[in-house]
Amino acid sequence: KGERLRLPPWLKTEIPMGKNYNKLKNTLRNLNLHTVCEEARCPNIGECWGGGEYATATATIMLMGDTCTRGCRFCSVKTARNPPPLDASEPYNTAKAIAEWGLDYVVLTSVDRDDMPDGGAEHIAKTVSYLKESKVRDPRANFDQSLRVLKHAKKVQPDVISKTSIMLGLGENDEQVYATMKALREADVDCLTLGQYMQPTRRHLKVHNILLLKIPILGKVGNELGFHYTASGPLVRSSYKVNFPENLVAKR
Ligand code: SF4
Ligand code: SF4
Repeated sequence: KGERLRLPPWLKTEIPMGKNYNKLKNTLRNLNLHTVCEEARCPNIGECWGGGEYATATATIMLMGDTCTRGCRFCSVKTARNPPPLDASEPYNTAKAIAEWGLDYVVLTSVDRDDMPDGGAEHIAKTVSYLKESKVRDPRANFDQSLRVLKHAKKVQPDVISKTSIMLGLGENDEQVYATMKALREADVDCLTLGQYMQPTRRHLKVHNILLLKIPILGKVGNELGFHYTASGPLVRSSYKVNFPENLVAKR
């Protein structure tokens, strides 16, 4: 109790604004997501969300809604004994927002949900797996869907040469690459290209590993698996040598 202390001017921060700030705010509202930055009235929001020319943009998404079952006295997050049920689309929407923003850094936190038997663990696990998929790829795209399209194309037009590409260097392991190549061959894909991912700009995903030595070996693996043509090299891209005459001859 007692008089509220006045903050010295140097502890006051600017009202947040700017293009990046507005972009984050709009996505959050459209997808019904919450952040600690807003709910806890963090004074750094302008700086963190804004990014600026030299700084990196960050945000802290708060999962499981905006209402906590606890009531810490320093915290401005809403509290209730029985908050509304979890939003089932929150894990997907979180991944979607993060993939769209292309932030340099993101923190996931949550309110406490002591009202739920697992405390929300399943919900958080779902968010992490969506996020792992979509940081690399837009959540609307997925491998099974691509495989179905390739399979279907070959089924309806057997004479058409089908081709696809694998981007390497995003943290995949050997077993995953082999399993992907095998699945593509089983889907009747004729040609395959494999190349090293390179980060197009600072805003894009960072390179996880460089595969200079492994890439030529993968070309041989492709041949053994029976692809009509496998181009594998650090600079190979999905359209690489696509018009080479020998590549235009269908295998069957
Ligand atoms: Fe505050 Fe952390 Fe959000 Fe920055 S990222 S605005 S420090 S809560
Ligand atoms: Fe705020 Fe809930 Fe965390 Fe306490 S447990 S600090 S009330 S969000």
